[in-house]
Amino acid sequence: MTLDRRSFIRTAGLAAAGAPLLGGSLFAQSAEPSGSDFYELPELPYGYADLEPVIDAQTMEIHHSRHHQGYINGLKAAEEALAAARASEDYGLIQHWSRKLSFHFGGHVLHTLFWQTMAPPDSSGTGGPSGELATAIDRDFGSFDAFRGQFSAAARTVEGSGWALLHYRPQDNRLVVAQAEKQHDLAMWGATPILGIDVWEHAYYLRYQNRRADYVDAWWQVVNWNRVAELYQSARG
Ligand code: MN
Repeated sequence: MTLDRRSFIRTAGLAAAGAPLLGGSLFAQSAEPSGSDFYELPELPYGYADLEPVIDAQTMEIHHSRHHQGYINGLKAAEEALAAARASEDYGLIQHWSRKLSFHFGGHVLHTLFWQTMAPPDSSGTGGPSGELATAIDRDFGSFDAFRGQFSAAARTVEGSGWALLHYRPQDNRLVVAQAEKQHDLAMWGATPILGIDVWEHAYYLRYQNRRADYVDAWWQVVNWNRVAELYQSARG
């Protein structure tokens, strides 16, 4: 969260100091079931203030350190409750904990994606997609502007709290834009999200209040297309 970190990133061309190198994966490849770093709050690859003026530092700090941590805590609590249910063979709350599992898992995965696919305005990668990703966007949406129009409209109109997402859909090898409500409703089975914007009010309200559309318009300045391209290539296998 300091100039030191930023200069390290520029010099070394790496993700944040101390953070695992992820390649095309959202999470470290060494992740193992239970107790692994999957349950650690991932470090941001930039400082809380570095997305200014698009996203303010206080929003970033609260969103990352409290909201995202809360989803990780909720995921762990749900998994512990389900383990206890198995041990006691008491499944009276199975519906409740299954819903919590899906909600908090979605929160952890989507926020991890959200942080990784942003970068400071005017930094490397924020100029728009290139290469095979740009070609695929043109192929599947007609043009980048058409893609952006659909994605922005999806983001503006998510009912309540949720996300707009760009998925790679392996069933027919194409990109699709979808909405998610909360963190998990409207899931696209088998599809892999490679870009997402959080449109819960906690993501923008301090700076934009009820002007969600202004937040969505400004957010395009901080999309890290280099990272989106890595996730796209990884999703294609
Ligand atoms: Mn959020």
